[in-house]
Amino acid sequence: SFDFAARVERVEPSATLAISNKASELESDGVDVVDLSVGEPDFPTPENVVSAGQDAMAAGHTGYTPSNGIPELREAIASKLRDDGIDAESDEVIVTPGGKQALFETFQTLIDDGDEVVLLDPAWVSYEAMAKLSGGTLNRVDTAPYDFQLEPALEDLEAAVSDETELLVINSPSNPTGAVYSDAALAGVRDLAVEHDVTVISDEIYQQITYGVEPTSLATLQGMGERTVTINGFSKAYSMTGWRLGYLHAPESLVSQAAKLHSHSVSCAVNFVQHAGLEALEHTDEAVLEMRDAFRERRDMLADLFAEHDVDVPVGDGAFYMMLPVAEDDQEWCAGAIEDAHVATVPGSAFGSPGYARISYAASEERLREAVDRLAEHGYI
Ligand code: PLP
Repeated sequence: SFDFAARVERVEPSATLAISNKASELESDGVDVVDLSVGEPDFPTPENVVSAGQDAMAAGHTGYTPSNGIPELREAIASKLRDDGIDAESDEVIVTPGGKQALFETFQTLIDDGDEVVLLDPAWVSYEAMAKLSGGTLNRVDTAPYDFQLEPALEDLEAAVSDETELLVINSPSNPTGAVYSDAALAGVRDLAVEHDVTVISDEIYQQITYGVEPTSLATLQGMGERTVTINGFSKAYSMTGWRLGYLHAPESLVSQAAKLHSHSVSCAVNFVQHAGLEALEHTDEAVLEMRDAFRERRDMLADLFAEHDVDVPVGDGAFYMMLPVAEDDQEWCAGAIEDAHVATVPGSAFGSPGYARISYAASEERLREAVDRLAEHGYI
């Protein structure tokens, strides 16, 4: 038998996996499942991006690239970050196979055994796994009592963050709540990070999916450039989940450490995918706006449908998720909802917030209507 490494054994398999397995099982039995459990846009990758990838492949961009990414893309990313107000240079960027790899490299670069990582709950499932894989200990602050907003939770955050804290993770717009944190909330984060000398990950993967608000990048705040790792990627904004392309930006001293992990693990992101990413960054604004408008209409429609059933859902200003308040035992609720109503959602407890189910509204209006009808019909709302 194998003698597995403790760092792997202490991590749970993805909670969303159980749901998607159940959904596939039902579907293979011929059941029509409304799957609202997935975290990906339901649009095709924009055509110009697909063509750029195909052209790059045909032109022979199929070998290794410089480990941290092709210079044109790193420069385009630095330029985009400068447009956001971040003081960025291309040698402070690592292009990764997905934002997830950028996050993984950041945790591995910063966290030693016993180092404290502070998360805001509900938090995306992989932060906990990444913290554990790197040996970190978790300290979690719950935003659920404040309708998932950070500003009213700042006192709780202040109580959690200390000189012992190594890393704080901020994800705005948030998966799973859709919350976009206010400038005042981010200023509060800055004050704590500076006071206690904490490094902050700002996961901005949903940055371009916001409704009527302009999210501020944490690294633009006074004192934060030197202590922020900005994470972003192409999966959500450009509907490119399967292409696997993302990046991190951080001070050069951190980038040169993370670059060792990067080159000794993935070597580089896929060559022609990086060329497609360049096209996405430079020529795809309109498709991004169209997807954003569609998500906004769906969000509003879904919130209205729940309201018709007297369910008041805290609606965020970004991403494409909402947290539906459900019975105390959210795992039982989700298991029942998929079994009886054939609607797949993810239990809030997977994100550290029991009593909710995460709904992804990256689905057509027709399917969202169908989901609400079924949940109502079977007594789940
Ligand atoms: N961060 C958050 C909050 C996410 O929801 C996701 C994807 O679900 C990612 C990062 C990583 O996305 P990717 O690796 O596809 O860029």
